[in-house]
Amino acid sequence: MPLVTSTEMFKKAYEGGYAIGAFNVNNMEIVQGITEAARDLDAPLILQVSKGARAYANHTYLIKLVEAAVIECPNVPIVLHLDHGPDFETCKSCIDGGFTSVMIDASGKPFDENIEITRKVVEYAHDHGVVVEAELGTLAGIEDEVNVSAEDSSYTRPEEVEEFVSRTGCDSLAIAIGTSHGAFKFKPGTKPQLRFDVLEEVSRRLPGFPIVLHGSSSVPQEFVEKINQFGGNMPGAIGVPEDQLRHAAELSVCKINIDSDLRLAMTACIREHFAHNPGDFAPRQYLKPARQAIKDMVAHKLINVLGCDHKI
Ligand SMILES: [Zn+2]
Repeated sequence: MPLVTSTEMFKKAYEGGYAIGAFNVNNMEIVQGITEAARDLDAPLILQVSKGARAYANHTYLIKLVEAAVIECPNVPIVLHLDHGPDFETCKSCIDGGFTSVMIDASGKPFDENIEITRKVVEYAHDHGVVVEAELGTLAGIEDEVNVSAEDSSYTRPEEVEEFVSRTGCDSLAIAIGTSHGAFKFKPGTKPQLRFDVLEEVSRRLPGFPIVLHGSSSVPQEFVEKINQFGGNMPGAIGVPEDQLRHAAELSVCKINIDSDLRLAMTACIREHFAHNPGDFAPRQYLKPARQAIKDMVAHKLINVLGCDHKI
């Protein structure tokens, strides 16, 4: 099937009490690892591309890699989504270039300016059959060119969501309830806890409306330990507990963004490979197991965190 929008996916996910996984793609092995897991588990899928990924791999290469995945996985509904579109022009370029979904992230702007920019993107996107994710509230952390300090982050204010959604016409909304970008989400020694009270209040005000969580890796410690054991240096990396994300998926959260955990899986695998096989230098020797590590991580997320396996 051709690329799809997330409209039908989110409706089913909302009603079914699960969420769709949105995974960032940068190269062929990552695209293959993610899509093969979704194919084997009959899971609908969102592949997302950040501005940084477009700069790294080039728009055409990314589009063609995703088109290849669509051909290889004919039963999997796949959305191609722009992650953190910084402005109208970037969103327009992706809409014109074949994406079926874009995010406009004007969450760092004042409320009225966020509405104005988002509305402009929504008008153009809807004219072209593309859906739009917007953001209210700001997450801490670093992701490509999005870098927000903990002091500048803020939870979404539920009293703003109805006005924002009705004035912008956006199709889904990313909110800030304590997740953050990167592998260092919480201070060591503190108990990571999402603000379910904020999520529930948002959902009460927007019944049936799909909510999105960014920065939702769990940073499994066995991978951090493996990276550190084999020459890495990631002390104190901490993520969001998987059971809290599973609970969010049962509520109004329909899309969960997971990137750092795939990075950790790939890096841990490659570091271990070289430690055990110091003579290897052909990329296939270490990228093949790295691709499998991505696939295993995504399969785990689809089943245990998102609950979206066998939902096609
Ligand atoms: Zn994000």
